[in-house]
Amino acid sequence: MSATWPPHLGKKLDYPEVAVGAILAGSARRFGDRVAFRHHDEELSYAELWRRACQFANGLVARRVKPGDRVALRMPNCLPFPVAYYGLLLAGATFVPVNPLLPEPAVEAVLKDSDAVLTVTPGEVASICEGQPETQPEVEIDIHSHLAHLAYTGGTTGLSKGVRLPHRNVVINTLQFACWQTGSVPALDAEGGLYLDQSGASPEEYRARVGEGKGINLTPWFHAMGTIAGLNVLLLVGFTATLHDRFDPVAYLADAEKLQVNYMGGAPALFAGLLACPDIHTRDLTSVLAIGSGAAPMPLEMTNALQKIMPNAVISEGYGLTEVTMGATGSPTFASGLRKVGTVGVPVFDTEVKIVPLDGGDPLPAGEPGEVCIRGPQIMLGYHNRPEETAEAIVDGWLHTGDIGILDEDGYLSIVDRKKDMLLYKGYNVYPRELEELLIAHPAVAMAAVVGRKDTEVGELPVAFVIPAKPDASAEQIMADINDQVVPYKRLREVILTDQIPISAAGKILKRELRDRLTS
Ligand code: AMP
Repeated sequence: MSATWPPHLGKKLDYPEVAVGAILAGSARRFGDRVAFRHHDEELSYAELWRRACQFANGLVARRVKPGDRVALRMPNCLPFPVAYYGLLLAGATFVPVNPLLPEPAVEAVLKDSDAVLTVTPGEVASICEGQPETQPEVEIDIHSHLAHLAYTGGTTGLSKGVRLPHRNVVINTLQFACWQTGSVPALDAEGGLYLDQSGASPEEYRARVGEGKGINLTPWFHAMGTIAGLNVLLLVGFTATLHDRFDPVAYLADAEKLQVNYMGGAPALFAGLLACPDIHTRDLTSVLAIGSGAAPMPLEMTNALQKIMPNAVISEGYGLTEVTMGATGSPTFASGLRKVGTVGVPVFDTEVKIVPLDGGDPLPAGEPGEVCIRGPQIMLGYHNRPEETAEAIVDGWLHTGDIGILDEDGYLSIVDRKKDMLLYKGYNVYPRELEELLIAHPAVAMAAVVGRKDTEVGELPVAFVIPAKPDASAEQIMADINDQVVPYKRLREVILTDQIPISAAGKILKRELRDRLTS
């Protein structure tokens, strides 16, 4: 095994000039009858997915959907989803993901802002495909300007903003991560389909990395991590994923053992749920070779607990945001050596990271916290119809992420917190994440989130919401134990025991809701 991973780390990748549809076209030819997705008793092979996606594309053309038109998919992860996703892209339309759990007004806002010409639900996919040719329609796609995704993301004001991502971004970010994970380089087959050339990685390394490529999929496809890592990377690599409708740790662990999965991917909330489930100690999970986490910080305690239970698994974290299509950094090594637990790794191919002071200025030296800025070919074109916010976010080609991070001497990035979640106590910066790490390591705490309570004298006071791990947990004791470990200005002022901490479908703690709980 090589000491570093991927073996071509530090080199530039050559990205073929193709549209997103080339990912499925190449994989359908390479993997043919292999199952791409399984859901309940139904299976969808690579070849069948391609045929249906072409039918869907022709169905849209027949319904007068033109290249550049927005098509919203309002669906949970299900077999019709990839059919519609690749189908609309093959027709030259733009994918507008809609979280099906959003309240109606929020859905309306996305549909209106994006000017969607069509909204598709799972039940409508078959009828759009019906009677259509199984060949790819001829459409002109300019991969640099033509949007593949118009993806809506939170934003500090609470108003969702559309992130403009052309085909080029989606293909590049998919390759940046697929080549990172597999040690391969991109290539085109004779008919222009994309595939991964593994000749640079030894077959043992490649297999040890991805195994046979089996996993369970729960990452929502309406979110960046789902569409890039859980759909495009997965299909390019030739994975077989079993879909679960909802997260049930007992069912997940049972299936993981039965299917002998090689890969577990998701947000830390998924792994927290698995670790809290007693079955994790009795299931045979030796088949798991890789664990990929992203979307939110994975506490150190959790990394260590997972490693103990799944000793064959390489645990890696990735970091990114919708504005960089999905990802910017990843853990760099495979077997040993350069992986640094607690960091989100180093910038992936052709990507740069710098840290600047929160109020702007020249880059900070290693070790100093500041705003994370990213430059690379996966950065969005801008926000849809929001030139001012775009100009604020992208300055001289650098995306200002709103995250606070630290680069170490070796170029590894750690995410300290989000700028908007940071608290100010008498002018001192307090990072809730630091307190959350301490809380999660406490034996009486199952899960924790820290937010600020406004205070006219000092600014903000840190308050913790805690899901106890034991019925007799004492809020006072937990608070005293944590406060013993921190400098006075970071001390918790209150610990509130609760049985529920709100988490988004993409796995992020909804801090705004917690702050509202403090004021209501
Ligand atoms: P989204 O655009 O929904 O993907 O959200 C992006 C935000 O998620 C980033 O700006 C970070 O605040 C957070 N995030 C993503 N990955 C990580 C990670 N590995 N560790 C900490 N925070 C993360």
